[in-house]
Amino acid sequence: MPQELLIYVVMGVFGCVLTVFLCLYGLLKVKDAPGGTYYILCTFMCTIFTASYLFELTSTSLEQMKFWLGIEYLALPFIPVFVLLMCFEYVGKKIPKPMYYFLIGLPLTTIFMHFTNDFHHLYYSSIAMRTDTPFPILVLEGGPWFYVHSFFLYICIVASIVILFLNFRKKSFTFRMQILMMAAGLFTPVLGSILYLTGLGPYGLDYGPLSMSISFLFHGAALVSYQMFNVAPIARETVFESMQDGVLVLDQKGIIIDYNKTMTSILPKINTFSIGKPVEDILEKKHRLYELMINEQECDVEFAATHYHIRFSPVLLQGTIVGKIITFIDVSERVLLQEKLEKLASIDGLTQVFNRTFFFKKVEQTFDDLKQQGATVSFIMFDIDHFKKINDTYGHEAGDHVITHVIDVTKSCLRDTDVIGRYGGEEFVIFMPHTTGQVALEVANLIRNTVSSNTIFLEGKQVIATSSFGISTVGLTLSSDCPTIPMLVNQADKALYQAKEKGRNYVQEFQKLGEHIGA
Ligand code: GH3
Ligand code: MG
Ligand code: MG
Repeated sequence: MPQELLIYVVMGVFGCVLTVFLCLYGLLKVKDAPGGTYYILCTFMCTIFTASYLFELTSTSLEQMKFWLGIEYLALPFIPVFVLLMCFEYVGKKIPKPMYYFLIGLPLTTIFMHFTNDFHHLYYSSIAMRTDTPFPILVLEGGPWFYVHSFFLYICIVASIVILFLNFRKKSFTFRMQILMMAAGLFTPVLGSILYLTGLGPYGLDYGPLSMSISFLFHGAALVSYQMFNVAPIARETVFESMQDGVLVLDQKGIIIDYNKTMTSILPKINTFSIGKPVEDILEKKHRLYELMINEQECDVEFAATHYHIRFSPVLLQGTIVGKIITFIDVSERVLLQEKLEKLASIDGLTQVFNRTFFFKKVEQTFDDLKQQGATVSFIMFDIDHFKKINDTYGHEAGDHVITHVIDVTKSCLRDTDVIGRYGGEEFVIFMPHTTGQVALEVANLIRNTVSSNTIFLEGKQVIATSSFGISTVGLTLSSDCPTIPMLVNQADKALYQAKEKGRNYVQEFQKLGEHIGA
């Protein structure tokens, strides 16, 4: 094989292997990238083109050469079109439908013209084989359609370069490097073809296929080192889709623009058909969430048994708000933890009733309303009798048991509206809204009786605990001399002291002598 031919064959084989590798690489790595599909198609077509060109180079007869040329032309006309479509997609621009049909239609026409050339000679005016060269070479005289096709090919490549550079300024350094690599890859076959068309290449050898394989070196380098297909949009899409937070994008008129996968579990009505439709389609206008979305009210909301924090951020286009991004952050865990912490901070561990601080907080929350209503309220203060003795006799743990027993009994005697808190030690306080002294007295006696009539088993022994009660009652008014909560609690405490004085297991109303029921 002549040395010149060997160089071209080696280059061709190299180009072929490279395009196969890039095609496979593309299939594995950049399939979903913007322009990825066209990149795969380009490299596939280039493989066919370079391989058949290799066969054409090594052919020895005109017929053989013409056959391989025909195969080349099944792929070649599409390459610049796919490159252009790849560039369009790469920079995120959509191609109009008529233009798309034109871009596909013209190469198809070229293929047809090429295959039927023997009948009209519109593609090649003459086809001959040179044998005075170190190896046989096809000599092709271009006809009118050949020039149409060549012009179209250059327009596609130039348009691709223009599209890339139009987006050059807006992007980051990495993206600019990718664009430069892509552009270099595009310039190379152009240069090769200019050499061929101007006859500057030795023996009129077509540099197109060879330079194309070199061009793919640039593309390959861009792909491997700079990741020719910007990973940012794919990464962004992946992040968007895999986000645990639900994201809904609306335009200024409340039309659904986009949503992510998580959103489908938050609003099950949303699906691909919802895009372009008003948000009312997936959410009734009277729905609380709808109101929040429209008013852009950042808040925590409980929805479908989950707590979400809803956040709004504007979508800006050249400084103008064109829509909003609504993020649904699942804060259930945080809310549950908060509730747990609140409970821990407000509930007494032993008896599960409010602690002193939270008891007062709770009563304060309703006290002003009750004042407005002029309601009668009562406080009961009670304490277990001779508790030190129980502790001393049976131990602290047994004492705890007695406390929980007394509180269980007490809880069973109270209404839902009553509030009970541990005042300190084994002393408890009850707030009873809308309760007269008479009713409070009855409740206190009910508790006292139930406690004293229930036997508690401590270390196998039967123990009976008793308790004493003090009651304070007031008809609330808005006047400044109306007793405050601490005053009323203090009165109940004083009454309790009196009850203890009177022999314990006793209920005493403040300022009035209470009934003494058994001891
Ligand atoms: P009185 O009839 O006058 O109330 O007599 P008492 O012995 O019950 O006196 P006091 O109410 O002052 O007793 C409180 C005792 O309760 C003191 C303390 O050791 C005990 N105590 C306070 N908190 C707890 C608790 O959580 N568990 C146990 N086991 N004992 C407690
Ligand atoms: Mg006591
Ligand atoms: Mg006490």
